Amino acid sequence: MEPLISIDKLRVIYNQGKPNETRSLEETNLQIFPREYVIIYGPSGCGKSTLLYSIAGLQKPTYGDVTINGKAFSKMTKKEMLELHQTGIGLIFQAFYLIPSLTVLDNVCLPQAFRGKRRSDREREGIQSLRRFNILEQSGKYPSQLSGGQKQRVAISRALINNPKIILADEPVGNLDSESAHNVLQILKDLNEVDQQTIILVTHNPEHLAYADRIIHMRDGRIIKEEVNREKRPIDVTRSEIIAQDTDPATQELNILMASFKSLLPQQVNMLLVPYKAKQLLSHLLSDMNEEQISIAETLIRETLFKNINVNELMERLDLSYDKGGGGWNRVRAKHFTDRIEGIMEQVALIKSHPQEASSTLSAYLINLFHLTLDQTNLLRFQSILSLRIDSKISRVEMKKRIDQAVSSGGLGLYSQTAEKMSREVEIIMLLKYS
Ligand code: ADP
Ligand code: MG
Repeated sequence: MEPLISIDKLRVIYNQGKPNETRSLEETNLQIFPREYVIIYGPSGCGKSTLLYSIAGLQKPTYGDVTINGKAFSKMTKKEMLELHQTGIGLIFQAFYLIPSLTVLDNVCLPQAFRGKRRSDREREGIQSLRRFNILEQSGKYPSQLSGGQKQRVAISRALINNPKIILADEPVGNLDSESAHNVLQILKDLNEVDQQTIILVTHNPEHLAYADRIIHMRDGRIIKEEVNREKRPIDVTRSEIIAQDTDPATQELNILMASFKSLLPQQVNMLLVPYKAKQLLSHLLSDMNEEQISIAETLIRETLFKNINVNELMERLDLSYDKGGGGWNRVRAKHFTDRIEGIMEQVALIKSHPQEASSTLSAYLINLFHLTLDQTNLLRFQSILSLRIDSKISRVEMKKRIDQAVSSGGLGLYSQTAEKMSREVEIIMLLKYS
């Protein structure tokens, strides 16, 4: 995936060479990807608006360049720039910039008038847009007759009427009371999530940060820090392809690992995978332990998987008190836990040594673990689902679906919670089997 917006070595110096020279933006590099919701955050005067207007193509860089959709501003003709402003980018400001002598509807339709659309078409779309932002009743009024929140919604309707892919908003709720502010921020969030528009919002209000996928912190004309709430950027193309195939985080992580291991020998891969296996096995088996207990247990499982200690020693060590370097668990828990690990590892060994019988051993194991009763037909069905998964002919998600599905439509008809747990169990076994 290519970045939608790329900012390269951008600098903005106002009044360069004059006594009142101001360096508003020091050398700045930033990439923004399709569908991201990015907040530019920092105190007043730190250069947020300068950066945003540079992205909008409204502020000419002193040095550097901005590229949108693969086309650099420095290489755009006036016509291309105009096109970008009319249909590519929607701008929302703190001051609403509504034209006082035009009605709400005419204000909203204005960008389309510039594009030479027929009045009746314009109005139809204007009305749709006003309805969407819940402001249609005000369509015949003039801006001075509206509240701040209503004015901003009119400004948003206008910014979005040509359906731009990118929305740039400079402190859009700075002048609004907190309820209207929330309302407007929710509209932007929906535009990002539902309409998949890319949003860059400038704010100095820390309460807004939770809305964004990524937060760019600025200070004194520089980006000083970046914070990620939700990652929407690809690490590389391989990874984004993998993510498209499977949404389970554990499988994803494994696939990413695998993609980067392509050039290694199998033994090397196994060495590298052990810590990951230990983590997955542990998080599969435990949910309510504190961090220290988890980290000790994790180390011990790793030792077990590296075969430095056996399952019995694992149990002893988990049972041993903290101060003696053990896990500080009680005996019952340690026993139960190591029994589970032993069961899983036994399955792994069986599947590896007798791959032809994998689906029947695994089905017996799962039937016992989940206390299932299956008639002959369903048992065969179950085994065939498992064997498809073992041979990687279906994904984890598909396997779960088939286990979950009603018997009448070819599934096993188990509770979906059981199906989820069972598919995770199979996944863990498949992971541990890998070497
Ligand atoms: P922010 O949006 O974070 O408050 P700005 O980008 O508006 O910050 O401003 C960054 C710095 O650039 C400030 O010191 C401001 O005074 C200065 N500045 C902004 N616009 C101009 C301008 N047109 N001429 C001169 N200085 C400017
Ligand atoms: Mg500003």
